[in-house]
Amino acid sequence: MQNSIFKDWTVSKWLLNIVLIAVCVYALSYSVNFIFAIGYVAMLIVHEIGHIVAALNYRCEVRFGGFTPFGAYIQIYNHTSTKQTAIIALCGPFFGFLSSLGFLGLAYVLQDTTYLWLCFFAAVVSVMNLMPLHPFDGGKVICGTFPTFPLILVPFLGYGVYLTYKSDPDMSYMYIALIIYVIWNVWKMKKDSKYKALFRLDKAMNIQIFSFYIAMIVLLIGLIVVLLETFGSTLWPNFQEMQIPNFLQGLF
Ligand SMILES: [Zn+2]
Repeated sequence: MQNSIFKDWTVSKWLLNIVLIAVCVYALSYSVNFIFAIGYVAMLIVHEIGHIVAALNYRCEVRFGGFTPFGAYIQIYNHTSTKQTAIIALCGPFFGFLSSLGFLGLAYVLQDTTYLWLCFFAAVVSVMNLMPLHPFDGGKVICGTFPTFPLILVPFLGYGVYLTYKSDPDMSYMYIALIIYVIWNVWKMKKDSKYKALFRLDKAMNIQIFSFYIAMIVLLIGLIVVLLETFGSTLWPNFQEMQIPNFLQGLF
């Protein structure tokens, strides 16, 4: 067990994680169904496996950090180069994309809409993970490659302020807060990338990694659009039947 990803796991850490998974499975079984609950946990694990496989490939000392109420995380005990950090970060959402395709296959074979939901969710969660901001995986990719890229979000958020400042001031404050958050992110990433000067990527590698990042976003959004176009009418009535809390329904 010397190199196990569970090295240093104490009994209480195991118990805490088992309880967290049990609560998650129970809550999702109750609000959606048991298959969705198990599939959701499997989706989180597959995402982390993506990071772990990439990290082990670079011979990093890597540990599974455990589950949190929002997902799971890993810890790496080496100084990884900018390139390694970016590839390790990208492999999580990439495995998420693969799990999404896997769920799509299961939906075909088993003819169960729950797997379609899991497929849709895995794609949405993966694309959210590629958000070019801390603490998302996308932030880790962007920090070393193109730290000013998140500024692309500012005009969209600014448009949000413009649309809501009269009708819904609370919403417009949220957009303003997000703009500040984006600018803070860029400032911090620029600062961090200065410290990483030692590992600065050459231009070709920088473009390669950034292109891979953009390609993954396009691929995932493409999958989401195809799913909605093809199965929207199957998914939606099904969605309304689920006992999902109202505040979550509002997200869709
Ligand atoms: Zn991740």
